[in-house]
Amino acid sequence: MGCSNENRLLRKPKHNKENNSFSGPKSPLTAFLGITQDKFSVWAQNIVLILRQVNSYHQLLSATVDHLEREQERGQRRVIVDPAKLNALFQPLAATPSQSAETSSVPTTVPNSNTLAELREQALTCTRCPHLVTSRKQVVFGVGSETADLMFVGEAPGADEDAQGEPFVGKAGQLLTKIIQTMGLSRDEVYIANILKCRPDTPQRSGNRPPTAEEMTTCSPWLHRQIDLINPKLIVALGKTAVEGLLEQQVAITRFRGTWQTYRGISLMPTFHPAYLLHQQSLASKRKIWEDMLAVMEKLSMPISDKQRGFFLPR
Ligand code: SF4
Repeated sequence: MGCSNENRLLRKPKHNKENNSFSGPKSPLTAFLGITQDKFSVWAQNIVLILRQVNSYHQLLSATVDHLEREQERGQRRVIVDPAKLNALFQPLAATPSQSAETSSVPTTVPNSNTLAELREQALTCTRCPHLVTSRKQVVFGVGSETADLMFVGEAPGADEDAQGEPFVGKAGQLLTKIIQTMGLSRDEVYIANILKCRPDTPQRSGNRPPTAEEMTTCSPWLHRQIDLINPKLIVALGKTAVEGLLEQQVAITRFRGTWQTYRGISLMPTFHPAYLLHQQSLASKRKIWEDMLAVMEKLSMPISDKQRGFFLPR
């Protein structure tokens, strides 16, 4: 059967994987364009570069919006921008083919462990994020009851957690412990883990940063398997990053919290990160998180006293 002129013009030139160029006999497309194969190869590579830059721009924009929402969630009202960094945003983005190659080679599963202890042993030696392996003190796997009905999932270890090897032990962690105790439970009766098992590195040795989307994707198989083995009845996702990591979608936590979601058949309650209360100490802020916990207690058929129902209500 004959080939139409249109089909011949659209036929793709052969891509040479070894030298990442387009080669082969002169195609109808290059003939139509009146250019050489070499010139076409350069054009094609430039188009790929531009598409990568557009993708990077969207990732950067999305990361900036995420960061600002997290800061707002933590009670920040102003953003101070370094002029040098602002100027850097206007510089052309460089292609990062080596990064892409690194990401695509990351395993998307974890070894098939049958017990949490086995999974923990494997996770403690994980080296999937080389930049975090060099900066971490230890992997922060998780803590609590292996048969817990209720699991809390946060963002990532901070400096305190990295030092102690246990999630939620810093100031925000102490608030979480108080919330758990106010529910009538102890840390030993629930399970606490993070989306990321290693502390995100920071240029300076102090301060914490949220994990990147790439880091979360790399680490998430550990958490998924951890949840499979614990098999909780209910998960509380603490803060925007944890919600997004579990549900794999972007959310505005101020609107999303308090609304029931489902993670692989398990009921999930999104709420604010306890760090939110370090900056927002009003009764109204405390009540919002507490109302989410009351909903959790009801769903788990836990006893709730009148005193518990009335916590953080205006008098
Ligand atoms: S963050 Fe997760 S995937 Fe990355 S090195 Fe640590 S344990 Fe491994």
